[in-house]
Amino acid sequence: MSVVKPLKKLVSCVILDLDGTLINTDGIVTDILKVFLVNYGKQWDGREAHKIVGKTPVEAAAMVVEDYDIPVTKEEFLSQITPMFSERWSNIKALPGANRLINHFKSHGVLMALASNSPKSNIEKKISYHKGWRDSFSAIVGGDEVTAGKPNPEIFLEAAKRLGVHPSSCLVIEDSLPGVTAGKAAEMDVVAVPSLPKQSHLCSSADEVINSLLDLHPEKWGLPAFQDWVEGTLPIETWHIGGPVTRGFGRGSKVLGIPTANLSTDGYSDVLSEHPSGVYFGWAALSTRGIYKMVMSIGWNPYFNNTEKTIEPWLLHDFNEDFYGEELHLVIVGYIRPEANFPSLESLIAKIHEDRRIAEKALELPIYSKHKGDPYMYNL
Ligand code: ADP
Ligand code: MG
Repeated sequence: MSVVKPLKKLVSCVILDLDGTLINTDGIVTDILKVFLVNYGKQWDGREAHKIVGKTPVEAAAMVVEDYDIPVTKEEFLSQITPMFSERWSNIKALPGANRLINHFKSHGVLMALASNSPKSNIEKKISYHKGWRDSFSAIVGGDEVTAGKPNPEIFLEAAKRLGVHPSSCLVIEDSLPGVTAGKAAEMDVVAVPSLPKQSHLCSSADEVINSLLDLHPEKWGLPAFQDWVEGTLPIETWHIGGPVTRGFGRGSKVLGIPTANLSTDGYSDVLSEHPSGVYFGWAALSTRGIYKMVMSIGWNPYFNNTEKTIEPWLLHDFNEDFYGEELHLVIVGYIRPEANFPSLESLIAKIHEDRRIAEKALELPIYSKHKGDPYMYNL
């Protein structure tokens, strides 16, 4: 008699980390440390960001105090810095896809827990600003409720216990290395969503690494699939960006045969950091020409390994001239796929043409075509 093993162990519950996974805390940490260090005559250089992500507050404080040689104890540091954080909690944004994910699991009756290294009272405070979140979690475990925070598995084991399920029934979603380590040590399946760019290699022990919550496919884990994908595209809350067309790397048409009308990222760094890298599409308006379909990438273009995050819109129309300097407005309406690296230039080009076909077809659908009339398209 043979025993058929399931390909993948199926889960029934989800345990989520909070900071960097559901809410965008990283930008705030950086902002606050910058201000704080200036008071001690030091300058934040970003080197801590990778080290402190996912650490308990005390551990993170100890690292900053030591690395910057600040003449305070870690307790003093924490007591000075904590009020600076509390002030900001009321406007920490949910990360793209966080509300979608919570609503989806809630509506399908999938039990969810929050497990964070932050003290429980801080977690409660932070989520109180997000409508419907508190009631969506059947359990919340804070770092102050266990003897050791992540990377120790205790916090996840406690969350499973409070959900009343076996650890092996839980899928952990985490942005940091300590969190991934803790989830694996708890013998849970772990999906990593690194919150810091270009860090996916750090999460190699995770069962899957995804670029943003938009890329989660719950059915891979035996959970109900999202129903909102249409013809290979995901409708998103629309956002826009615009300005005069600037010169880019001169690579689009020359290397790829695909011109991309670059916009200056000055003044848009917040918008750019808010949106996960990937391929998106929408509508583009040029002040003297009209409105066109558009497909674009946001990110570092792994094939070219850029150091700056840029947006690269390809207007789906044959123009017989350049239009540098002309005012360009973009309304972004949907998402196609995460950024990826390619083994060859040909495969990259083929993929971009496939993105083009997907975008062109999708933009005919009423959910996307209606945004052609967005006032922003006519306000230039
Ligand atoms: P750059 O690196 O300067 O952006 P590209 O090779 O990407 O150079 O070419 C982009 C330029 O080509 C745009 O700024 C625009 O003036 C022109 N252009 C012509 N057709 C298109 C198109 N269909 N989409 C975007 N830009 C186009
Ligand atoms: Mg370009």
